[in-house]
Amino acid sequence: MPDDPVWLATAKTLSAGRRIRIECCAHDKSLMVSNEERGYRAYCFRCGPRGFVAHGDFSIDQLRRRREEFALLQEANVRLPNDFTTEIPPNEAIWLYRAGISAALAKHYGFGFSPSLKRVVLPVYSGERRTLVGFTARSTIGAKPKYIERTRSPAHAVFTADSSTALPATDDWPEGSGPDLVITEDILSAVRVGRLVRRCVALMGTSANEHQLASTEGCRTIAVWLDPDRAGKTAAHKLLRRLALQGYKTIAIRTEQDPKRYSNREIRSLLSST
Ligand SMILES: [Zn+2]
Repeated sequence: MPDDPVWLATAKTLSAGRRIRIECCAHDKSLMVSNEERGYRAYCFRCGPRGFVAHGDFSIDQLRRRREEFALLQEANVRLPNDFTTEIPPNEAIWLYRAGISAALAKHYGFGFSPSLKRVVLPVYSGERRTLVGFTARSTIGAKPKYIERTRSPAHAVFTADSSTALPATDDWPEGSGPDLVITEDILSAVRVGRLVRRCVALMGTSANEHQLASTEGCRTIAVWLDPDRAGKTAAHKLLRRLALQGYKTIAIRTEQDPKRYSNREIRSLLSST
């Protein structure tokens, strides 16, 4: 940063919590420059506050996190963060709870947390050997990007809800009614909807590819229930058309909120009324 004023350039040389006095408006050192928790600060005992710059994107922690995240996304093999743990501190799991995912359900799916990245991590496993094929990780401190996502290949960019988590009501679908498969956009929505239908997958992103659509085999009726934002609407439209062209009976489910925001009862009724 060649344009930093002297006080800021000085502050950036200080380790966390340190302060130093330099010259300001006179020949004595009246300007206190400090590296505080929230940012760099300059205060002159003669002329008052002289500047403050929040650590923001420049904090050491944030840079370290970005480096680690970049490595996670670039490495040849899909892996979870080094400090991944399935013990998610309750105050970090709020995002899950708000989406109706209980601690037990999170544990069932092996969802976890990376304390160093401050991200809730949703691993995606495949096959009986539960091979890790991808993950989505959401920041709990509002870091950007909010979500980071990685999959082993486009073929693996699909998350399938575990049918063993289905609620008893799922058996009640009268023969020939209800969708054979519901396609959602995100993993948490698939987990929620997957408790109320025979089968539910999340596309991990909005654009479905040929590999992902292979999971539609053996279905007759497919419901597409993506997010209500513009990207979701456009993607749903395309997906419905492709599925219809392939001969499936399609159901478009459009709601004001993401599927995961609805109660089990509401999800059930949204899927029944079509
Ligand atoms: Zn001064």
